[in-house]
Amino acid sequence: MLSERIRAVHPSPTLRFTALARELQSQGKKVVNLAAGEPDFDTPEPIKAAAIRAIQEGFTKYTPSSGIPELKAAIVSTLARDRGLAYRPEQVMVTCGAKQALFNLFQVLVQPGDEVLVPSPYWVSYPEMVRLAGATPVEVRTEPSDKFRLSAEAVSKACTPKTRCLILNSPSNPTGAVLGEQSLKEIARVAQAKGLWIISDEIYSQLVYGGKAPSIAAVAPEVAPKTLVVDGVSKAYAMTGWRIGYMAGPAEVVEAAGRLQDHSTSNPASISQKAALAALTGDPASVREMAREFGRRRDLLVRRLAGIPGISFVEPEGAFYCFVDISKSGLKSSVFSERLLQEALVASIPGDGFGWDHYVRLSFAVGSEALEEGMNRFQKFIGSLIS
Ligand code: PMP
Ligand code: GLU
Repeated sequence: MLSERIRAVHPSPTLRFTALARELQSQGKKVVNLAAGEPDFDTPEPIKAAAIRAIQEGFTKYTPSSGIPELKAAIVSTLARDRGLAYRPEQVMVTCGAKQALFNLFQVLVQPGDEVLVPSPYWVSYPEMVRLAGATPVEVRTEPSDKFRLSAEAVSKACTPKTRCLILNSPSNPTGAVLGEQSLKEIARVAQAKGLWIISDEIYSQLVYGGKAPSIAAVAPEVAPKTLVVDGVSKAYAMTGWRIGYMAGPAEVVEAAGRLQDHSTSNPASISQKAALAALTGDPASVREMAREFGRRRDLLVRRLAGIPGISFVEPEGAFYCFVDISKSGLKSSVFSERLLQEALVASIPGDGFGWDHYVRLSFAVGSEALEEGMNRFQKFIGSLIS
C-alpha cells in the first residue's frame, strides 16, 4: 500500500498532456503542440559548448551540494543586475530546476496546520507541493476583469491565524499576468503585517512584453528578510532539460533547504552547472532575441484569438501562455482539451489543473507557422461547438 502522502497527490496535467501530444506526434500525427511549457528554441551554442568542455575536462564528479561557488557568484551578480536584489553567496542555493527550489522551500517553511496562500489560477504544482509539506493550500482568486492580477485586499481577506506563507508568481503561469510596483508594495504591506513568508517564483521574469516584472524583495526591501526568490535558467535560456534552478533569500532558510538537498538529491548535475554558468555570464543577445520572438508570437496569438467568437481571454503581459475562457463550449476543460487533441490535433492544457474548469491554457512557445495552423484548427473546433 502506498503512503497516504502520495495518494493525495494528483498527476501533473501539464506533463500528462505534453506527453500525450508527443505520443501522437511519434505515431506520425501532425499535432500542433500548444501544451508545452517550454521554449521550442534549442539551447544556445556557447552554453552547449561549456557543457561539452566540462565533460572533456572531467568536471563530472560531485560538487558542493548547494552548487559550485562560481555559479553562486554568477547568480548573485545576475540578481543584482537584473532584479536590483542584493544577496551574499551563502544566501543562494543552486537546485535541480526551480521546481526543486520550490519543493525544498515548502518543506522547510511550513508544516501541518499551516495555510499557504496560492493565487488562482495557479501553476499546477503549487498546491501539490504545499500538501506534500503537510500544509493546506488556500486559493486566492484573481479575476479576468482585473487582468488576473492579485490584489493586496484579496490577500488580506484570505489570511487566517494559520496563514504562514504567500506564493507570488509574476509573470504568471498560466495567465501571463504581471504585478506592478504599486501592487507589490501593497501586497508586501499586508504580508509584513501578517508576518508571512513570501515565496516569489520569478521563473518568467525575462519574458515580459512591454514593461518589467519587478521583484517584491526589490520594491519593498522591508519584506526581503522573509522573501525567497526562486528563478532558474529553464525558460529564459531554453534549458528546461538541464535542470538548473536556484533560490535566494535569508541565509538560515537557504541553509535549511540545503540540508534537505544534502539528504535528497545532493548537487544538481555538475555539467549542467557549468552550462548554467555560461548562460548567466554569456552574451545576453540570444536571450533578448528569444524574448523578442516570444513577443511576436504573443501578438499573433492575441490577434487570432480576438477574431474567434464565443471565447474570451486576457492578453498575457509575460511568460508564454494565454488562459482562454471556453465556458460557452459547454464542455469541462478536461473534455475540451481531450477532444481538441483527438479531433483537431491541437494540444492544450485543461484549466482544471490550474483551478479553473472553464478555461484552457494555450502556450505560444511554438513557431509562428505552427501557431497560425494551431489557431486555424482551434477556431474551426470552437466553431463546431459554439454556433
Ligand atoms: N514555476 C513555474 C511557474 C513554472 O511554470 C515552472 C515550469 N516548469 C517551474 C516553476 C519550474 O521550472 P524548472 O523546474 O524547469 O526550473
Ligand atoms: N512549467 C511548465 C508548464 O507549466 C512545464 C511542465 C511542468 O513542469 O509543469 O507547462
